[in-house]
Amino acid sequence: MMSDWLITLRKHAITNFGGNVSFVPKYRYKPQNEAEVLELLNKHAGGKIRVVASLHSWSDVVQCEDVIVDMSNFDSIQIAETATGDVLVTAGGGCILHNLLDTIHSKTNSTLPTLGAVKVQTIAGVVSTATHGSGKHSLSHYIDSLRVAAYDAESGQAKIYEWKEGDELLAARCALGCMGIILSVTFHCVPKYDIEENISRFDTLEEVLAHESEFPLQQFILIPYLWCYFVYQRRAIPTKANTFGERLNINIHRGYKLIGVDVLFHVAIKVLLSLGNPKLIRWFYKSIVPNIIVQIDNMVDNSSDALTLNHEYFKHLEMEVFIPARNIYQATKLVYYVTSLFAGIEETLPDEVASELKKINMLETLMEHKGSYTHHYPLFFRRVLPDDTLISMTSGSNEPYYTISFFTYQEPRTQFYEFAGFLAHSLTQLYEVRLHWGKYYPLNNSDIAQKYPRLEEFRQICQKTDPKGVFRNDYAKRVLGFFD
Ligand SMILES: Cc1cc2nc3c(=O)[nH]c(=O)nc-3n(C[C@H](O)[C@H](O)[C@H](O)COP(=O)(O)OP(=O)(O)OC[C@H]3O[C@@H](n4cnc5c(N)ncnc54)[C@H](O)[C@@H]3O)c2cc1C
Repeated sequence: MMSDWLITLRKHAITNFGGNVSFVPKYRYKPQNEAEVLELLNKHAGGKIRVVASLHSWSDVVQCEDVIVDMSNFDSIQIAETATGDVLVTAGGGCILHNLLDTIHSKTNSTLPTLGAVKVQTIAGVVSTATHGSGKHSLSHYIDSLRVAAYDAESGQAKIYEWKEGDELLAARCALGCMGIILSVTFHCVPKYDIEENISRFDTLEEVLAHESEFPLQQFILIPYLWCYFVYQRRAIPTKANTFGERLNINIHRGYKLIGVDVLFHVAIKVLLSLGNPKLIRWFYKSIVPNIIVQIDNMVDNSSDALTLNHEYFKHLEMEVFIPARNIYQATKLVYYVTSLFAGIEETLPDEVASELKKINMLETLMEHKGSYTHHYPLFFRRVLPDDTLISMTSGSNEPYYTISFFTYQEPRTQFYEFAGFLAHSLTQLYEVRLHWGKYYPLNNSDIAQKYPRLEEFRQICQKTDPKGVFRNDYAKRVLGFFD
């Protein structure tokens, strides 16, 4: 007997972390086993189904007004050692990342090959949108196999697929919920490692990138209105037992990150925003921020703590653009001028930037926005290696991508949406930029189809496991170009 979850709360709205996506589904399920998943798929084979996981996506990728499925009962973790000594982990799709890491760390000497900024998402959610950190591929790239509940192409009956190789695996590694319900994912771990980190200040992007080979996991922020870079220069080193003094140092640094960055910095931003004076924001970044960023040398912590933050403490929204490495200088220059013009601190553009925007008929639009929005958060840069997937953001490339994240903590977000929309449209047309599928997504399929050479193949593979389009929501049509 299937557990029809929360029947009494059917009218209760589901809202994502950013508060920008909200919907009321007709049916909600919380299956306890695979048989119940198949049963609900058969029952709603003529409807629309989506898994709702930790709701940490800002795009409407999760939205579904018909059937939603909570996979939190699928939280088992199995760990196996291969003949060659590799650690292979199989995690239920509903497993939360920090639980997964805790289990792997307590039972083995291994860890995940990469991590994004937070550990609160589910593993299936992470894989579905190709969540990434800096200096490695996205987590999707490392997935060995997936068990997925979907439909049989001929009979239309629900069935379980296991993809271990071929184009199906490449598609399922980042499928945005369109290939079915992920029951479990299996991946190889890597030996535990520590991160050695310096925080250093540089004036130019050239200087920042010059150190990349020395610090392959580095990420950096560009401080608006001061226009200098603070770089988290990071490299992996083997783990070792720490002395008392080292442990004390680590805890002091963690305390600084938690209280100084995760809490106080964000409180300051919220207070400044509430005062409603853009000049204060610019003053804060020019005069205060450079003095409160603690520049450190050779700080060592385990990868799980060093690579993540508690960035989920304050509600916010993010758009993230992926720029092919060859275009990073030009794209950053455009971002600088767009940010400055929106803030009203630049009146004109250099000829080469103006002529680029003229080519795509966006120069006048930019000028109309002069002085309309002061961006209030550092621009956050990471580097992501090409993924072996069909459609993740760094798929099908022979060069890395740099990402730039634009965060907003202000509501209403109308002016931020204008700013982000302008950047998304101009960068996509000029510099082959792609947008993170799971973050604010102001583009449509016609804007991005050319950027994903294997998108049509992806749609065809989805058609096989979902002939009636049960897993295709409005996002799948608007962004991925499905017809139904
Ligand atoms: C504070 C914060 C920090 C973040 N940091 C990063 C970062 O550093 N790097 C990065 O790349 N991204 C980051 N993200 C984005 C986030 O990692 C992704 O949006 C991720 O997809 C969210 O996972 P979730 O479990 O919340 O899934 P949801 O947002 O609930 O769902 C995402 C998609 O996955 C599908 N899905 C979920 N589970 C299943 C399943 N079992 N079967 C089939 N489909 C499924 C859903 O239907 C939906 O389409 C961040 C988000 C927030 C809010």
